[in-house]
Amino acid sequence: MIIPDPQITLEQQRAELCLELLNLEPLYVEPEIDPVDAARDSLHREGYAAKLRQLRRRLDEVDEALLRLARGEYGQCAWCGGGIDAARLEAYPAAALCIGYATRAEMEAEQDAA
Ligand SMILES: [Zn+2]
Repeated sequence: MIIPDPQITLEQQRAELCLELLNLEPLYVEPEIDPVDAARDSLHREGYAAKLRQLRRRLDEVDEALLRLARGEYGQCAWCGGGIDAARLEAYPAAALCIGYATRAEMEAEQDAA
């Protein structure tokens, strides 16, 4: 199995995320909204805000992964210091946590959201 160069993959992902963020921006930056439109628009804006948060979080993850790559720490779990599975890195190059800790972090995030 050939694992693609994570630097190239991450930079590609970064460029795609930046582009998505740029394309998203004009929807949000409306100078003034008609009160009647505002209610109808709020659902759309909530969806937008969620999308924006998600994109920014992914961009942060990619940036952090690039930083770890530069430090020679790429592929190490940020929590336990253990190696991250190669298959996991291939599927998700920005992964900062090994699968055991990632599952735990997701469970905690869900509890926080509830
Ligand atoms: Zn770990």
